[in-house]
Amino acid sequence: MRFELIYLNPMSENILAFIPTDPSFVPDERDQSKARKLVALFLPHADEIKTVVTNEIEFISSGANFARVICPYCDIEIDMNWWTEAMDKAYKTRFTNLQVNTPCCHQLTSLNHLKYDWASGFARFVLRVRNPDGTELDSEEIRRLEMVLKTPLWKIWAHY
Ligand SMILES: [Zn+2]
Repeated sequence: MRFELIYLNPMSENILAFIPTDPSFVPDERDQSKARKLVALFLPHADEIKTVVTNEIEFISSGANFARVICPYCDIEIDMNWWTEAMDKAYKTRFTNLQVNTPCCHQLTSLNHLKYDWASGFARFVLRVRNPDGTELDSEEIRRLEMVLKTPLWKIWAHY
């Protein structure tokens, strides 16, 4: 089975997503519930706020915003064929092994630590806000969300 980026979605929508920096981390259910309530206070006009937990680690992409992948060490654009092959290989482990050697400067790193433009990452847990109406969380609000979920978070803006 090959990894594929999936764009199929009949409605155009913006998703503001938060994922733990550790792909395997899943906050406990009580903390997830607190986090949804907190985000509902911060973003009262959002169409939907939900938390999603998957059995396996998934690639959370920025959808149509996804443009390119950049090496975090030498800042050059990574060849998409190399990246697709690396993703296929990692997908065979269901993304439990994300280790790669960068093709440009041969640094040992993880697919989760490449620079995605726009931001993307790997996760089992996602807090998804559908159509937050042009607003987003400021750094103080994100810090409070991180405290509730007991993990540092990455922010992903996805457009479909
Ligand atoms: Zn490099």
